[in-house]
Amino acid sequence: MAHDFDVVIIGGGILGTSLSYFLSSLNKSKKIAVIEQAHTVAFHTSGRNTGKVHAPYLYNPEKKKLFAKSAFHGYGMWEEYSKLKDLPFKKDGVIEVAMDEKGTKVLEKYLKWGKHNGLEDNDIELIDKEQIKKIEPEIKCESALCVYRDASTDYSILTNSIMKDSKEKGTNFLLDTKATKIKKENDKWIITLNNEHEINAKFLINAAGGEAIDIAHNVDVAKKFTDVHFRGEYWKAPKEYNKLTKSSVYSVPEFPDYPFLDPHWIIRVDGSCEIGPNAVPVFSPYGYDAAENIKEFIPKMLEMLNSGARKAVFDKQFQELAMNEIQSSMSKTTMVNRVKKFLPKIDADKITKKGTAGIRSSIIDDKGKFAPDVILIENEMSFHVLNYNSPGATGALPFAAHIVNHLNKAGLFSNEEEDAVCGPWKFSEIIEKLQ
Ligand SMILES: Cc1cc2nc3c(=O)[nH]c(=O)nc-3n(C[C@H](O)[C@H](O)[C@H](O)COP(=O)(O)OP(=O)(O)OC[C@H]3O[C@@H](n4cnc5c(N)ncnc54)[C@H](O)[C@@H]3O)c2cc1C
Repeated sequence: MAHDFDVVIIGGGILGTSLSYFLSSLNKSKKIAVIEQAHTVAFHTSGRNTGKVHAPYLYNPEKKKLFAKSAFHGYGMWEEYSKLKDLPFKKDGVIEVAMDEKGTKVLEKYLKWGKHNGLEDNDIELIDKEQIKKIEPEIKCESALCVYRDASTDYSILTNSIMKDSKEKGTNFLLDTKATKIKKENDKWIITLNNEHEINAKFLINAAGGEAIDIAHNVDVAKKFTDVHFRGEYWKAPKEYNKLTKSSVYSVPEFPDYPFLDPHWIIRVDGSCEIGPNAVPVFSPYGYDAAENIKEFIPKMLEMLNSGARKAVFDKQFQELAMNEIQSSMSKTTMVNRVKKFLPKIDADKITKKGTAGIRSSIIDDKGKFAPDVILIENEMSFHVLNYNSPGATGALPFAAHIVNHLNKAGLFSNEEEDAVCGPWKFSEIIEKLQ
């Protein structure tokens, strides 16, 4: 194995893999590696999510401009890419429902945000309860935002395909390989892999998802932040429910400042249906089961008590919401009832199988506040992406292109291929759309 790399990306999720794709397209003579501890890319959150290619109606265009733009253009890019490679992508829409007048006001705001973020009149419309009855007779609500430019896919398949393309452009994917130690020596990084051997890198990109904050702390970056992990669980609905609705159904989040969205009624790209996700606090970015959570309980509690997370977890509102989530983890009926509010026909007794849980890691600052947006931190020899949460998979391609453009402009490489063609896209055109 080679020892010296120009760029090492830690994390083979959808973001790290997309970053490698654009970096290797633009800088063909450079040696780039992606380090991923799992045996395949997208093994963690990127392959364990709801699989929606989201329309950007939930994002305030002023406060989350880049995220909203990435989601908007990400939709078009994934659609085009899936068509080219014959990968799953189904434009099946999503319906966001409001149960009362207050919720309708929120939907009116989402309609405005959606249009501001690029959706057209025929992509999104707000309808009342009589109109929704005609389209989706099983849904009960006061009003609904029908978003037609929303789709389902399988992000694990998409990430694997991007990895293949990136490999063809020369990226080295080191799978089953954990970055266990990182230190800076003179003008290079020395990265220890699997506690065994070392590689060198001139530049480090941290796209480590739920471990991104630990990697950042390891190299003395982002010390005022910490993170809290939430496990999103799903229940699989029986086949007889597959035609209950034509689109997935979400409800207006009651507490948008916290990472607790109410579970949705989800139609997967293969047509099967699920309920989820909730957001149960856990102690590790890989806390899928009790064994991992018990192992990480003491270190994580100590870390939280010594950081801003202490303020967040002692906040009364947070505790109430977290208790709700824990209840809906312990009781299937509690979870199902959260969806039954707007889809009364579903019967908890018929739902017997759990789906694949995924974990979201939310960043908290030293004042105990949840970071509302992605956090990008750059210094001379490294770049860190923290709090890269929903709809991160939707926006991964444009977001990665944005970062690569920024790094190239900042002088990481000499822009060898300024007008690079990356698959079906011209790099410069992607960047233009994000302006
Ligand atoms: C329940 C849930 C549902 C979601 N639904 C959607 C959705 O429908 N649509 C959407 O667009 N977004 C959705 N998201 C958000 C989306 O999945 C994430 O934003 C996205 O997957 C984040 O990608 P990532 O590459 O940053 O992180 P990850 O997928 O977590 O990848 C990071 C990788 O880094 C690796 N890593 C970490 N540390 C090391 C190390 N030291 N050495 C080697 N490897 C390391 C990990 O193994 C991991 O594979 C959802 C998220 C959750 C939790």
